[in-house]
Amino acid sequence: MRAKVLLIMTGGTISMVQKNKTGALCPASLSTFKHFVPELNEADFHIEVIAFDSMIDSSDVHPNDWVHMAEAVKSHYNDYDGFVILHGTDTMAYSASALSFMLGNLSKPVVFTGSQLPIGVLRSDAKENLLTAIEIAAAKRKDGSAMVPEVTIFFEGHLFRANRTTKRNAEHFSAFYSYNYTPLAQAGVHITYNEQLIHYPQTVAPLEVHTALDRNVAILKLFPGITEQVVAAILNTPNLKAVVLETYGAGNAPSYDWLYEQLRSAIERGVIIVNKTQCSTGSVDMQLYDVSRNLLKAGVLSGYDMTTEALLAKLMFLFGTYPDDVEQIKILLQQPLVGELTIH
Ligand code: ASP
Repeated sequence: MRAKVLLIMTGGTISMVQKNKTGALCPASLSTFKHFVPELNEADFHIEVIAFDSMIDSSDVHPNDWVHMAEAVKSHYNDYDGFVILHGTDTMAYSASALSFMLGNLSKPVVFTGSQLPIGVLRSDAKENLLTAIEIAAAKRKDGSAMVPEVTIFFEGHLFRANRTTKRNAEHFSAFYSYNYTPLAQAGVHITYNEQLIHYPQTVAPLEVHTALDRNVAILKLFPGITEQVVAAILNTPNLKAVVLETYGAGNAPSYDWLYEQLRSAIERGVIIVNKTQCSTGSVDMQLYDVSRNLLKAGVLSGYDMTTEALLAKLMFLFGTYPDDVEQIKILLQQPLVGELTIH
């Protein structure tokens, strides 16, 4: 039987065409899209397409859109073998990370892809990304189960675990990278899957979609010379629940007394502060230097090797799902839930 794949179009460059006269980008209709990718009608899979009511640039993506994406997967879950979500590249890593937490008990592939050049442009990367993403969404193991039953991002020959991925390049076709986790597959002449790195569910349970997300989170990026007022403004934001503190190197921060006092007082008020290194590769280790041990003493939690995108999405998901249980959130934050962190 031919595998069935559902394409979910949300917008972004991959869903745009250039207007003839001005060259400006506008959303492609479904028929225009199929016109530029005639292979969609010829592929060895059964492909159907649904689209968001209006295509959006991913800079406009809001957590409510993550809920729409998750619900689109849920309402078609039993009818398809896999899902491909077409999404703008700018915030794809956020959306894909969020869905990795929201789609509980996932046993089918959900592959995000996009492109740097619009569909229909001669050198566009859209067709290759799209067709290979579909092939991955349809791929099966020998026992008939899904080859990659995870939320992933496919881009320029590489399949990455979604919650390990960051947009790294605004120009090159190879726009995404996973700095702390080896790609799950490479696509050349053949698609080579790294099966030992892919997460396979041990038991099959019904899909459970978590749609409660709490947006009361913030990012505080340290830099030499940061002022007390800037730190105070962020940490005293009304209703704030959690802060991703972007630190230096292995998780180090300047030793200003006022900084520790402010962090300690925010933590005493119940705000979770989690340490994320500004480095792309490597992990936070707050045992290494005095300047990070002080953070540990103040009650700052380790973000280990999580991406900022995964941390933000995980915090929104945890506070949405366990609104009254900060202790449980602290435990889950520092454990891998869907392969988003490694503790050495
Ligand atoms: N601004 C576009 C978006 O993220 C860029 C892209 O798709 O590559 O929607």
